[in-house]
Amino acid sequence: MVRLASYLVADSIESYRADHIDAENIDAVFDPSELDEGLAFRQSIPEDLTALLHEWTRGFCPLNTIEQSLSHLINTRSNPVQRTVGVLTAEDAMSMLEPRDILIDCTGARSLIRDYLVPFVGTPSAGANTVNIRLEYAIVITFLYGQPYDCNEYCKYFKNIENAHYKFVPMVDRTHFDGSVSHVTGIVNISPDDFGAMPSRFDDGWLRSHFPNVAESMDRFIDKIKQETKGEIVGDMEIVRIPLDLYRARNATSRKWRAPGFGDHVFAKSPVFLAGDSAIGSPYFQSISLGFECAMHLAGLLSQRGLSMTDMLDRYELYNYKQWLRVYMRSKMIKHNKDLFECVDDRFALLDKLHIY
Ligand SMILES: Cc1cc2nc3c(=O)[nH]c(=O)nc-3n(C[C@H](O)[C@H](O)[C@H](O)COP(=O)(O)OP(=O)(O)OC[C@H]3O[C@@H](n4cnc5c(N)ncnc54)[C@H](O)[C@@H]3O)c2cc1C
Repeated sequence: MVRLASYLVADSIESYRADHIDAENIDAVFDPSELDEGLAFRQSIPEDLTALLHEWTRGFCPLNTIEQSLSHLINTRSNPVQRTVGVLTAEDAMSMLEPRDILIDCTGARSLIRDYLVPFVGTPSAGANTVNIRLEYAIVITFLYGQPYDCNEYCKYFKNIENAHYKFVPMVDRTHFDGSVSHVTGIVNISPDDFGAMPSRFDDGWLRSHFPNVAESMDRFIDKIKQETKGEIVGDMEIVRIPLDLYRARNATSRKWRAPGFGDHVFAKSPVFLAGDSAIGSPYFQSISLGFECAMHLAGLLSQRGLSMTDMLDRYELYNYKQWLRVYMRSKMIKHNKDLFECVDDRFALLDKLHIY
């Protein structure tokens, strides 16, 4: 289940910058003309795809639904798209390229091509093209709740008041298909040692027997939701432990390979673009929206027939960098707020975390 940001379907600049943490960042990073261009592109998206975007942004939506409805859309439209299913290596992808073909790598966080975008001799060095900031380790607990439920910062505080550690910080929204079912995703900060002692995926039974303190915090929070709204959890809880990483590809395109001296390399003649988690990844329910945002920009650039490839690569790099700055600032702010929230009743711990001038 993922939550898409409402700015993806914004029909005005005001609604695009409605998020109170994001608004000033957007003003600081983007020129008004860039925002206008993005809006104009969104308004030119065909109705069938726009309708899907609107549906997905109504609440939490299964990632499978997004994937399947996009595949369905591609298959049913009369267009020249050919789909070939298979696992590729970077070398496979490179050997398929003819001059002036364009390769768009959207293979996710462990991108196939990202390392290959920095010129190298022999084999590319792993991570050479990635800036990674580990914000925290966390477990992500998700479940459906059979009542409409909402949670603001007061709710997060008071439902955690007996949880000195392992505070359960929820993101709550309706599900995209049903306003009476809420989807709850709780993030609980854990230590690197906790992280090392947990399997990558487990259930609430495993949590209760191996990390009773974490489970008690979670249960206390959920009991308070139930007391308040008289509902029940629907189905099973799912828990994953993940590092919350904020990262970007230093180069989101192959433009470095177009410098003098690399003319023989396949990427000198066939440009590459990274899209989605291949290019930028962020925690706190932002990543997929950012991927859509950059993909829309790329589609806009590709549709400008008169644009030279050099300009296209430069503009995509710049746009990715700006989106990175935006998500970097927002993520750091959220993390800082979370850190303060974790110790809000401990005056000295709180003051230790403040830097004023
Ligand atoms: C628990 C969890 C919750 C999340 N919740 C949210 C949320 O609420 N909101 C949000 O914005 N984001 C969320 N995210 C992040 C979101 O899922 C990702 O940002 C999004 O899925 C990235 O999409 P993508 O298409 O770029 O990459 P992916 O979804 O990772 O897709 C990559 C695709 O490439 C394929 N692939 C990879 N390598 C190869 C290869 N060698 N050959 C062929 N195919 C290959 C993979 O099989 C996969 O289908 C969450 C992530 C997690 C783990």
